Amino acid sequence: MTPLHDVRTMVLAACVVGAPVQATRHVAAGLVLASDVVSGENVPPFANTAVDGYAVRSSDLHTVPVELRVVGELAAGAAPSIAVATGTAIRIMTGAPLPEGCDAVVMVEDTERVGSDSVRIHKSVPAGSAFRLAGSDVAIGDTVIAAGTQVTPMVEGVLASVNAKTVSVYPRISVGVISTGDELVDDGSALEIGQIRESNRLMLLRLVAEAGATPVDLGIIRDDEPSLEHALRTAVNERACDVIITSGGVSMGDYDVVKAVLSRIANMQWFQIAMKPAKPFAFGTLTNDRGVNVPIFGLPGNPVSSLMSFELIARPALRNMMGFGAASHRPEVLAIADEDIVRHEDGKIHFDRVRATWGSDGRVHVRRTGAQGSHQLASTSVANALIAVPDGNGLQTGDEVVVTFLGPDAGPFTAK
Ligand code: AMP
Ligand code: MG
Repeated sequence: MTPLHDVRTMVLAACVVGAPVQATRHVAAGLVLASDVVSGENVPPFANTAVDGYAVRSSDLHTVPVELRVVGELAAGAAPSIAVATGTAIRIMTGAPLPEGCDAVVMVEDTERVGSDSVRIHKSVPAGSAFRLAGSDVAIGDTVIAAGTQVTPMVEGVLASVNAKTVSVYPRISVGVISTGDELVDDGSALEIGQIRESNRLMLLRLVAEAGATPVDLGIIRDDEPSLEHALRTAVNERACDVIITSGGVSMGDYDVVKAVLSRIANMQWFQIAMKPAKPFAFGTLTNDRGVNVPIFGLPGNPVSSLMSFELIARPALRNMMGFGAASHRPEVLAIADEDIVRHEDGKIHFDRVRATWGSDGRVHVRRTGAQGSHQLASTSVANALIAVPDGNGLQTGDEVVVTFLGPDAGPFTAK
């Protein structure tokens, strides 16, 4: 058996980041910047008021209350035409440029209008009050977003604020997903003896999308060598997939046609990984018409095994290809086992699916979600995290264990 770490290292070495492309902000959303973004503009572009109030000269407010003559009004978007002279004020709305002559803004809440052309100021304020200087968010020449940063909604906002219309990003990869097996049915028809409902493809396509790549549904392929070879070649050529993920047919069965076909047409390595679930696993490359070596992940067919090999091996590799780096990017915390997690020595790491919740002690606590068999997806579906239980006799109640959350929206949630 090969240690998981060794398999992951080998896979990551073959799944390298793509060449950067120039993309609009819309296309860049979710991707990773390949170059620094340097601002050509000040944000804000001009000094402007942070509040609704009156633009004043602070030297007029040494003794308050004081009455000032209101000589004008400025809304956001208007250009100032009159200066603030001694003894005068200009009514000003949030975001409007500061007029000449003023050095502070008094909040409207600290003023009282007197007739139509005067205002009584009740509070003295120092120079510089309640306005924002040009460039106080971003200055011309600032590296506003560094290469390697993901274009999050906040980053998109910043890019818009500095008028960066296109940016250099690592491209999104497209990932074809194929399920294999004569027993699989996905059309809702009544099951004949021996048939089962196909579940891996939908799950894997969604996991691919959640990892930030473009999922390509390549359907169910029967356990038939010519059909599978055709599907794989179409995927890397006509459909131009950057990666292929297959499920099923990589273990020791007599009808493991994935093994037969990939051994013949691709450059593959076949593993028995020292982990449970998901021991069988294949990785290699299939060369497309353009001479590009397309990575292929052969995941085992049992649904929980498929999920685990995706999470622990394929996902980091897809993310690496899109510039996220080799880390898993799943949040991890040190949690407390709320039950004994019994296992026996078998040379493998066991990945158990758990529910992580906040305890009243302020710590995260975990319990297994139930049946841990590799075909038992239902109990996995209520898990929000994984724990790695090292080889040995397991964990005892109260032991600390690292939990890895299964998604960006996964807990720890408060226990019901
Ligand atoms: P295999 O890896 O092809 O030997 O399949 C292992 C087990 O997983 C068998 O019980 C299959 O019926 C099941 N299986 C394989 N592919 C899928 C799939 N796409 N959806 C649900 N179960 C599957
Ligand atoms: Mg099969």
